[in-house]
Amino acid sequence: MKQLLELLTVHGGKIVCTASMTPEFIRQAQASGRMFVDENSIGFVWEPPIYKLPETEAEVEFFEKWYPLPVQIPEKLKTLDWLYEAQENCGGAKCQVKKCLICKNEQY
Ligand SMILES: [Zn+2]
Repeated sequence: MKQLLELLTVHGGKIVCTASMTPEFIRQAQASGRMFVDENSIGFVWEPPIYKLPETEAEVEFFEKWYPLPVQIPEKLKTLDWLYEAQENCGGAKCQVKKCLICKNEQY
């Protein structure tokens, strides 16, 4: 816990409870050594003061230091295949695709 308080003193940011975090962010915190679990198994994480996408080299370096794991993007969303597929399946005015992404058809 002392280490988290030191990070807070040096960098600012905040300390949050792991209960309010997604598994992805907890993994990032564990991997960069800014998580502490107390004797009651309550987890605390120091969150660095990053409020926007990093732009400068120093900002990117700071971000990658505290979020060292690759950010997970679902395989399906890496290309636009899902969009082309949806466009091909869409039947326009007579569309029968359930929750069609193209014509927003909701009635089937
Ligand atoms: Zn459609």
